[in-house]
Amino acid sequence: MLKLNDLFFDEYGLSYDCVLSPSTYLYSLNVAGTSLACSNIANLYTYSKKNQNINIPLPIIFNFLGGWHHAQRSSASGYCYVNDIVICINDLKKIHTQILYIDLDLHHCDGVEEAFSDCNTNGTILIISIHHFSPGFFPGTGQLPQQINMTNSKNKFNINIPLKEGICDTNYFALFKRVIESIYDLNGDQKSSANLPDVIIIQCGADVLVGDPHKVFNLTPTSIINCVNFINTHFCQKLNIPLIILGGGGYNFADTSRCWVQLVASLSNMTLDNDIPEHTYFPLYGPSYELSITPGLKKDSNDQAYLNFIVNSIKEQIK
Ligand SMILES: [Zn+2]
Repeated sequence: MLKLNDLFFDEYGLSYDCVLSPSTYLYSLNVAGTSLACSNIANLYTYSKKNQNINIPLPIIFNFLGGWHHAQRSSASGYCYVNDIVICINDLKKIHTQILYIDLDLHHCDGVEEAFSDCNTNGTILIISIHHFSPGFFPGTGQLPQQINMTNSKNKFNINIPLKEGICDTNYFALFKRVIESIYDLNGDQKSSANLPDVIIIQCGADVLVGDPHKVFNLTPTSIINCVNFINTHFCQKLNIPLIILGGGGYNFADTSRCWVQLVASLSNMTLDNDIPEHTYFPLYGPSYELSITPGLKKDSNDQAYLNFIVNSIKEQIK
């Protein structure tokens, strides 16, 4: 029988995968605070650029503690106690006029989409989420408007890319590029377009990796690195706009570390040795003790017809 306390905690999502512990409050403060520190740096850079009063180098800002995209305004959800992404975006809005949020996590960013669903009709924030969707898979949202028979103006700014199981590195990055190229004219004079972003956040959830316990996609860190590098090269470096990189899911901790360290190295133009160096957590990297991750043999259920359907649906959605 449920006790009064259980009902109280259930109301705020503090049960199942978001149980309360003595450190939950401090942890949530750290999650929200570190992503706010990211937006503070981006705001300072853009403010200085606009006012030409301080010469600050173009920043790429990392916070792998952040990226908790399921938390709702008054409820924890899916391991997420506080939606640091929404807090970060709201802070960026003080200085920036066009915010691009890209979510690479295995799961749909329902908490972020929900937070801006009613107040984003003018497209100040463009949300692009590429994730797995199948009946019964958490959080159960993130289909194409055509798949759920929904078309209205606010959907123009919530782009969902729902993928089937087994997607491989080649198809994932090719699709990501096609979607971005269908939204932005990368070959045109970008500086003349009003819809170009002036700050970008990318959530880099590592539960898309082949070794994650979810076992849904067949990806290596190459996919995340390619997507982030593509955005960094074609938008951030070209337009001189700040890039915020957040963490997210990733439940094979060794593989998540492998992925994120390679991402930082790539954005920093560093080459890493493939042998993991000896350190406190070295035994967790066995049996390979290497940085690289090999894809598995899982079949890619996303055939070319389905990938074309996604791109055509999105083109129709943003018309
Ligand atoms: Zn996830």
